[in-house]
Amino acid sequence: MQRAAMLARASETGRQWDLLVVGGGATGLGIAVDAAARGHSVLLAERGDFAHGTSSRSTKLIHGGVRYLQQGRLGLVREALRERQRLCRNAPHLVHPLPFVVPSYAWWESAFYGAGLKLYDLLASGDDFGRSSHLDRRQVIAALPGIATAGLRGGTRYVDGQFDDARLAVALAQTAAGHGATLVNYCPVVALSKAGERIAGAVLRDAESGREFPVAARLVINATGPFADAVRRLDDPGAAPLIAPSRGSHLVLPRHFMAGDSALLVPRTPDGRVIFVIPWQGRVLVGTTDLAVPQATAEPVAQPGEIDFLLDTANRYLAKPAARRDILSVFAGLRPLVAAGGTNPAGLSREHTLLVAPRSGLLSVAGGKWTTYRSIAEAAVDLAERLAGLAARPCPTVDLAIAAASTAEAGPALHPALPLTAGEVRRACREEMARRVEDVLMRRSACLLLDAQAAVALAPSVAGLMAAELGRDAAWAAQQTADFTQLAAGYLPPA
Ligand SMILES: Cc1cc2nc3c(=O)[nH]c(=O)nc-3n(C[C@H](O)[C@H](O)[C@H](O)COP(=O)(O)OP(=O)(O)OC[C@H]3O[C@@H](n4cnc5c(N)ncnc54)[C@H](O)[C@@H]3O)c2cc1C
Repeated sequence: MQRAAMLARASETGRQWDLLVVGGGATGLGIAVDAAARGHSVLLAERGDFAHGTSSRSTKLIHGGVRYLQQGRLGLVREALRERQRLCRNAPHLVHPLPFVVPSYAWWESAFYGAGLKLYDLLASGDDFGRSSHLDRRQVIAALPGIATAGLRGGTRYVDGQFDDARLAVALAQTAAGHGATLVNYCPVVALSKAGERIAGAVLRDAESGREFPVAARLVINATGPFADAVRRLDDPGAAPLIAPSRGSHLVLPRHFMAGDSALLVPRTPDGRVIFVIPWQGRVLVGTTDLAVPQATAEPVAQPGEIDFLLDTANRYLAKPAARRDILSVFAGLRPLVAAGGTNPAGLSREHTLLVAPRSGLLSVAGGKWTTYRSIAEAAVDLAERLAGLAARPCPTVDLAIAAASTAEAGPALHPALPLTAGEVRRACREEMARRVEDVLMRRSACLLLDAQAAVALAPSVAGLMAAELGRDAAWAAQQTADFTQLAAGYLPPA
């Protein structure tokens, strides 16, 4: 994927796309893959980098959702488990099974959680993830070295999926491109154009040059997640809110706090949520919170109270408690929760909403999870075909292989604490449309999330490598380093 070629195609005059997808997160990219693989012409415009929004800030689980099981939402859990299996088969390079342990400290817990997870097994029956099992105290300690042992009785083990969210997003962009889609990052939709009352296209702005250009499309799909209302208001300034964003924050700790290959599930926090303590890329990921926010912002920042809540909750289960000074990185994302309204054409129990603006025909797709991005895209494209008057074609993504990255040239890591090589930086520029230092350090790799301070130290060398690849000068590299350092301040733990 090369941005200059993509941009040239996007701005060709006199062309009408079947679909213009606004937003390059899990939802928009899933729709682009599905529609392009059906043979429709697709343009996707993302205002930042691919997965710049929520889709690079998830807990990185491909799961049915034990939490939804507790809420009795069995249809949703079953659908997510089905998608978990499909994704594991279609993208084995990006998704892998991860064992979880729910520890028991009270006599009734093993029986209670064990029974719940038997139901999880039943809903997942026939898949490749294996079944849940009871663990005695010794087995729990072996699976979760670092767990607090006082009062520990045993636990329940089950298996879910773990993935690299931002890398899956890039892989989906490449898959869509491989099926003929045109995708442009750093290209916001700044206006919608109409023929009478119907939306007939949009105005895009190339954020690098500032140039604006019109595009025509039979249907515009708003897949902007937490920002869906801002795009709906480009259509109808009086549109009632659809999205009620909620912030979820994570901490990253050194691996020694919970060494081992299993994750810990805290089944009930004081505020009635579940919390995960997960082995992740040689670190431990702790998350997440759930706090309503009045307005979606591009760079949500975890508040000190959330950080303390996560530390306090994790520390109840850790033999050696973690303190703020141990935190390597803090990151937050916004859940695009659907507040009201919407139609669900298939009539299935799903968490996402497809909303069609009656006058203009704008299709907004919001809510859902990374795990179910494929089935959301299938429903969205089925509806889009009808709305746009396109030929109805069968959805091909159930067993469609998702692109794998090419092998980067070998070389040493650029920083002793981080898994990034010069070859990977070059590949990101040449094949993955990385344009800024943050694209490489946060999404083509997860360096910023793994260790914010080390990522800041690495920024000048990444900027230099990128400048050479992208034909930029030293002033550009210095500005990129400064921009990244400023961004990373929001990922550093508070003093
Ligand atoms: C804390 C947290 C943890 C989560 N953990 C998990 C998990 O472990 N597993 C799971 O399955 N799900 C998880 N989820 C849910 C999942 O991450 C989201 O459902 C999913 O990423 C939403 O994707 P999206 O494409 O709808 O939104 P986004 O990823 O936010 O994408 C919207 C995109 O639209 C772009 N955009 C906005 N305005 C414009 C414009 N005018 N023009 C062009 N582009 C625009 C934005 O830049 C953004 O990239 C989690 C969510 C949160 C918040």
